[in-house]
Amino acid sequence: MIVELINTGSELMLGRTLNTHQQWLCRRMADLGWPVSRQVAIADTGPEIQQAVRESLGRADLILVTGGLGPTSDDITRELIADLVNKPLRENPAIVAELKRFFAERNRPMPARNLVQAQVPEGAVVLPNPNGTAPGLAIKIEDGSWKMEDGGAGRLQSSTPNPPTAQWIVMLPGPPRELRPMFTDTVVPLLQCELPRQIFVCHTLRTSGIGESALAEIIDGPLQAFIARGLELGYCARPGQVDVRLVARIPQAEALVLDAERIITPLLSRYVYASDDEDLEAVIVRELTARKQTLAIAESCTGGCIAHRITNVPGASAILIAGLVTYANAAKEKFAGVRPETLAAHGAVSEPVAREMAEGARQATGADFALAVTGIAGPSGGTPEKPVGTVFMAVSSAAGTVAVKQLNRFDRETFKDVAAQQVLGMLRRAMV
Ligand code: AMP
Ligand code: MG
Repeated sequence: MIVELINTGSELMLGRTLNTHQQWLCRRMADLGWPVSRQVAIADTGPEIQQAVRESLGRADLILVTGGLGPTSDDITRELIADLVNKPLRENPAIVAELKRFFAERNRPMPARNLVQAQVPEGAVVLPNPNGTAPGLAIKIEDGSWKMEDGGAGRLQSSTPNPPTAQWIVMLPGPPRELRPMFTDTVVPLLQCELPRQIFVCHTLRTSGIGESALAEIIDGPLQAFIARGLELGYCARPGQVDVRLVARIPQAEALVLDAERIITPLLSRYVYASDDEDLEAVIVRELTARKQTLAIAESCTGGCIAHRITNVPGASAILIAGLVTYANAAKEKFAGVRPETLAAHGAVSEPVAREMAEGARQATGADFALAVTGIAGPSGGTPEKPVGTVFMAVSSAAGTVAVKQLNRFDRETFKDVAAQQVLGMLRRAMV
């Protein structure tokens, strides 16, 4: 089963709109077991759209097309695709009635041009749009024929060994708040009914505190036997974290992936904090809640970023006692209990200060764990001994205080994100 995605919209090509459909639809399709094999984004001009759809028809069993179903002159996807697959457009009375109702409900006259949204290619399935005026459309092409570039009829030359007998084109509206519910409520049931089932299992282990190549050195060897049996191994490195992806598309895929996961999880136990979508902060809140333990945070250069992430998790109030943003030296002394001598001897960005911040925050709040971060975000303020990007972090608990130094040479915002990720990773490791 070959699935392709075509995102239309000149705003995408001009950098005015982030193509969120690409990520959202690819993720949904992968979770459903039909990963997308190719995606293109194109301007919404006639030749571009027809060429992209024609190319996809030569390869794919399912083509998802987004955008261009609106009522304005740049919304031409429906007409172009109907023409390409030789399906005449007919006005659909049910959609006309729905459009009239939509405008009447809002006490607005219906512009005549909205009627174009009631045009349906012959035989197409209409996908209702409760959140807008443009219904989606699904066209089944039974005979593999569509218009070639020269105007003649083409036949499907599928590159799949056992191609499904029909091809599908599914057209979805551009606005995400219309596309997403339509996909979930009507496209998924349609695909599940019409498309052959496919085996696709994908598990992701999320790690922090280890680099991509060091991680590969640990697991590449032990996974060789699984790779020989059909396991696909992938890495995705991001600042402060690396995801390990285990994929299988063979019969017994689930067992193969689970066995592989069972082999590498103990090898990576210090670093793995979650499987699949859970964030580090969610894991921390969940585990501290289960242990009935609490947390305090003393931040300097991260400016509240860590407290923000923790408080994004529902139920954080069960574990978070306080998040202090002690930016000035005086605040570090007054609220985090850092001694003036320590500041004078080592400077605010130093390991002793990070340690005292963590210990002071723990003492002041009575929390079981406290973490602290102090560093130089830049772009100025660096010195030869402490260049921009230098950051010290500490985690304090009944077991003692651990501190590390990192060098994170990023822009200010990324610097904060990475430091937050690193110290949350340290906390997680201090908890195991
Ligand atoms: P449409 O009328 O179908 O072309 O859709 C127009 C609206 O949907 C605009 O607000 C676009 O910015 C938005 N939109 C279209 N395509 C995308 C996309 N790929 N990702 C995010 N938003 C999009
Ligand atoms: Mg558009």
